[in-house]
Amino acid sequence: AKSSGRNGYAFFDQILHEQVRTRVEIEQALRGALDRGELSVHYQPIVDLANDELTGFEALMRWDHPQLGRVSPLEFIPIAEDTGLIVEYGAWLLEEAANQLVRWRAARADDLPPLHISVNISVRQLRDSALVGVVRRALRRTGLPASTLWLEITESGVMEDPETALATLRALRALGVRLAIDDFGTGYASLNYLRSIPARIVKIDRSFVAGVGEGSHNEAIVKAVVAMAHALGQRVVAEGVETVVQRDWLRAYGCDLVQGWLYGAPRSADAQVAWMDRTATA
Ligand code: C2E
Ligand code: CA
Ligand code: CA
Ligand code: CA
Repeated sequence: AKSSGRNGYAFFDQILHEQVRTRVEIEQALRGALDRGELSVHYQPIVDLANDELTGFEALMRWDHPQLGRVSPLEFIPIAEDTGLIVEYGAWLLEEAANQLVRWRAARADDLPPLHISVNISVRQLRDSALVGVVRRALRRTGLPASTLWLEITESGVMEDPETALATLRALRALGVRLAIDDFGTGYASLNYLRSIPARIVKIDRSFVAGVGEGSHNEAIVKAVVAMAHALGQRVVAEGVETVVQRDWLRAYGCDLVQGWLYGAPRSADAQVAWMDRTATA
């Protein structure tokens, strides 16, 4: 019993040690990631349910480290937030994605609707007084029309410090960019705050999209969110749409836009172009 106890502790120690090392190692490695050229941007299509046409993309950060491999954003974004690195990396991604969109828009046929780009803004960025200037500069330097830039913010991002956040959001709105409430339903914001966020778009989190069309309780929630958003003049994007059943149900219940593996996973800009060409001729 004694030795198994010791082994038990040794095992526990090892797990603890590995977790700590991983976190510290990731943090260490993340510090130089941008300078070493390890960050990139992937783009995921957003599609209009009314006509199945591409309307734009969400830009998602990717990090490939020579030893750690590809680290999930779910793992490194929180660390980038804690360390404050997200401020620099987020500004880089914003300009990178805006540049890419300007190129795609120039290459797009005139009779097609102009593409938009959606960029995630973290809590930390929203608290940074320089954010409005960063966005303004990115628009000026890339020439991207402000109305085609969507900034995705989360309820928790606003709730952390509502007064400052709302002032920043109003300043961003004054630039002409569009605000989208991301992961809707997963945070703890009161309806009162949600109403005061000047957002044009609501993105329903994929945990609520799961099971729609199959009698899930989520159906009632999605219907209610669509009704509320439409009453407030907002458009609704459903995230994580993976099946035709989900898509057909979302279309029948008035959801406006969809995003998910059914229409395409996030891909590099080059891979995205190949995909667009293929689907355009399909
Ligand atoms: P998010 O903003 O909710 O982004 C959507 C996530 O859902 C992405 O994960 C995307 O790859 C994934 N996804 C898309 N379609 C499907 C689907 O059909 N099924 C499933 N199961 N998943 C799908 P990803 O790229 O791993 O990013 C995770 C999170 O990391 C994002 O969640 C966002 O919160 C954060 N993130 C990613 N890039 C950035 C960034 O540049 N800045 C900030 N602040 N956060 C970012
Ligand atoms: Ca997002
Ligand atoms: Ca989301
Ligand atoms: Ca999410």
